[in-house]
Amino acid sequence: MEPKKEAIVINDALWERLLELTGGAAMLCYQCGTCTAICPWGLVKEETFSVRSFIRQAQLGLPDGNEALWLCTTCGQCEAYCPRGVAITDVFRALRTLAWERRAAPEGLPSLLWAVFWNDNPWGQPPSQRAQWAQDLALPIFDPAQHEILCYVGGAASYDGRAQKVAVALVRLLRAAGVSFGVLGNEEPPSGADVLDVGHQPYFEELAQHTAAVFREKGVTRLLTISPHDYDAFKNRYPPVSDDFQPLHYTQYLAELVAAGRLRLEKPVDFRVTLHDPCYLSRHNDETAAPRRVLEAIPGVELREMEDAGVDTLCCGGGGGRMWLETAPDERFADLRVAEALETGATVLATACPYCIACLEDSLKAQNIENLVVMDVAEIAAHSVAS
Ligand code: SF4
Ligand code: SF4
Repeated sequence: MEPKKEAIVINDALWERLLELTGGAAMLCYQCGTCTAICPWGLVKEETFSVRSFIRQAQLGLPDGNEALWLCTTCGQCEAYCPRGVAITDVFRALRTLAWERRAAPEGLPSLLWAVFWNDNPWGQPPSQRAQWAQDLALPIFDPAQHEILCYVGGAASYDGRAQKVAVALVRLLRAAGVSFGVLGNEEPPSGADVLDVGHQPYFEELAQHTAAVFREKGVTRLLTISPHDYDAFKNRYPPVSDDFQPLHYTQYLAELVAAGRLRLEKPVDFRVTLHDPCYLSRHNDETAAPRRVLEAIPGVELREMEDAGVDTLCCGGGGGRMWLETAPDERFADLRVAEALETGATVLATACPYCIACLEDSLKAQNIENLVVMDVAEIAAHSVAS
């Protein structure tokens, strides 16, 4: 006797909720499967991560109880190739929002949200220590009457020891260029980018409203970020801050300073560099030129491109909340990226995102690779300023 097939019950309320959360994004999908074929999980996983099935679920309003929902790094590779222009990462975020409502998030992610709730950062460190990384730098608190730009440090560069080095390098560059800038110190509010990445849409909106109000109150118009995730959130996901609000990723600002002749990178270095484009800078925001313009301005940098460069970058595996979840050792995208970097003969794997640095450095350590180092673009540039 044939096993009895269970009827699939379409939940109208769920369907309407998904429609509301995604603006109907999934409806455009005609199930070609290109997204599944292009997704980098196909390079590391034996079993198929069927992206298309998740889009189908959203089309039909089917609830999802599948752990694989949390695999998506929101890298955007699938969106770039989707012939129907489906906002696939928005669909994943919407399905995750519903999973949060059912309290079905994987272990590790609820504590991330609690840490942001209590401490304004996913590292669970006290807000009173947010500015400790800069205690010897005498950074002024931002004043719109005096400063041309706010340096938004972000959670990673405030609390993570490795990312702090990038912030220090950036301060050195801004000072070398004579930029008048300020920071918000311990008062710096969270961007909410990590909350957005894990798909808790209502909490992200609450954080974004709050932080946008802080920027308004403090007269912030131009700001630079260290993390491309913060940049993307401010630029594309925030409510209007003001008519002249202009978030920049720090590579964009440095490229602007170089072009204006304010930042002079004159001290020669000896680095053979390949650049890993962060997904949230290149693919999500079409910015591939700025980090290259900075690197090319440094005397002694020899830039060698990887096969997957620019908007075709290969994700490091750290986005979409994956930074906070375990990934099996043989399924790490960063290992593939490091292999690509080695093929170029580069000795420096450059990038411009604290999460990319963490994933790529972990990969080097795990594989005992010693002939390649990971450096941020700001760190390389800082080697080239006179003081
Ligand atoms: S690539 Fe686009 S149209 Fe094709 S299955 Fe995926 S979401 Fe649907
Ligand atoms: S955004 Fe990246 S990880 Fe997520 S489904 Fe698309 S290609 Fe895969």
